[in-house]
Amino acid sequence: AHPPQGPVWQAGFSTLGEAFFTPLAPSPLPEPHWVARNTELAAQLGLEPAWLDSDQALQALSGNTTLPGSTPLASVYGGHQFGVWAGRLGDGRALLLGETVQGQELQLKGSGRTPYSRGADGRALLRSSIREYLASCAMQGLQIPSTQALALVGSPLPVQRETLETAAVLTRVAPSFIRFGHFEWFAAQGQVQALRRLADYVIERYYPACRTADAAQGNAYAALLRTVGERTAKLVAQWQAAGFMHGVMNTDNMSILGLTLDYGPFQFMDGFDPQHICNHSDQLGRYAFDEQPAVAHWNLACLARALLPLIEELPHAQAAIAVYPGAFEAHYMTRMRRKLGLSQPFEGDAQSLAQLLRLLARERVDYTIFWRRLAEACASGAPEEAADLFLDRTAFHDWLLSFEKLVAQAGIAQNPDLMLKTNPKFVLRNHLAELCIRAAKLQDFSVIEALQQVLMRPFDEHPDHQAWADPPPDWAASLTLSCSS
Ligand code: AMP
Ligand code: MG
Ligand code: MG
Repeated sequence: AHPPQGPVWQAGFSTLGEAFFTPLAPSPLPEPHWVARNTELAAQLGLEPAWLDSDQALQALSGNTTLPGSTPLASVYGGHQFGVWAGRLGDGRALLLGETVQGQELQLKGSGRTPYSRGADGRALLRSSIREYLASCAMQGLQIPSTQALALVGSPLPVQRETLETAAVLTRVAPSFIRFGHFEWFAAQGQVQALRRLADYVIERYYPACRTADAAQGNAYAALLRTVGERTAKLVAQWQAAGFMHGVMNTDNMSILGLTLDYGPFQFMDGFDPQHICNHSDQLGRYAFDEQPAVAHWNLACLARALLPLIEELPHAQAAIAVYPGAFEAHYMTRMRRKLGLSQPFEGDAQSLAQLLRLLARERVDYTIFWRRLAEACASGAPEEAADLFLDRTAFHDWLLSFEKLVAQAGIAQNPDLMLKTNPKFVLRNHLAELCIRAAKLQDFSVIEALQQVLMRPFDEHPDHQAWADPPPDWAASLTLSCSS
């Protein structure tokens, strides 16, 4: 019998050369045990199911051994944290294992200190790692671009934060983990050659169309900036439509591929509050829900500044990021119209939507439940259960009447199937993650497994798990999330 097939590697990030990283073995993790695995993702990576059950996988994905052909490395990047240049950051607790022949990078998170740990322990909490694992599944289910999570390993290793907790190592998967901050670092160092090498690598691997872009708008690097802006616009539009808050949109957490990257104090909206701040370390609300689109634009300006030595012409850089607000608005309206069951623009759509969101905000109506009930109302023709969510039922009925009038005037019709496929029944609410964390701390990982299955198909009914579609219970009000993870 042959040993089960593990990852098969191809050359990738490491070909950039050692200006970009430090080769480094992970730190051993005592007594590792599986907490969660994603077999669907494993199959996409060409991994045999038996491999993910093997001791080789457990040891490699906990950082105790190195897989054949893998040369783990920590990459260097910088970034703006809360609007302030933070200098050198880098993979302080992550290691890139390599890139598989499917073009997917495998990265360990929480695998010990690196030269970029800045005095911290290089570890990740089981609690935070479960949140990231489940969030990755939820985003996959919602079809929102994101890094993915292949496996999660736990250990009795103690980790000190506000209290003493235990460690975990998460295996993340993405075509690339390159961030805006990678470019910012080399630009800040005045290392234009390295900057060009990085940009060329990203263009060649991920954005080849930039090479042949319209020269009137600048060179390939201007096209790169424009394309990243478009990707980012689409991503943030999807966040806003889903009610997702990232919580720490620092430039070092912005993926050059427009993926959701770095799950810390993230949250899905419960009762709709556009000013909601999910990160308790964010006192000024820089990363509040309704700030996210503008913050992404600000972050793109940082990327623009970093790329300027390559773009050369300031107006070209300015024109490239000027595309962002319009692109965001267009993607956002497309998404929100779909939530309303419509696949084309109509007269008055933006005003009607704004009116609805004001109603939701005024009564803090549960965002996910409202949209799902609206979809069900459209399917059944009976809006009563949607109206039940409001104290001021008249205001909702008035909105619905005026909305239906606009739709009729436009000569179009709502599509209930589209609504049921666009408005999820399930999102990863904080209290659901907390249920998984509490069970996991008692060595019960079955809740994670069950929730993972539901989150990966959030538009299905899942009659056995109705309670997971409910609004948060009272005890959830005391859950707080900070940057410490
Ligand atoms: P974040 O706020 O998660 O985006 O992290 C910002 C920076 O701090 C990155 O360079 C991380 O690698 C680093 N970092 C966060 N937590 C740890 C930790 N426990 N040990 C080492 N580095 C860390
Ligand atoms: Mg980060
Ligand atoms: Mg983080």
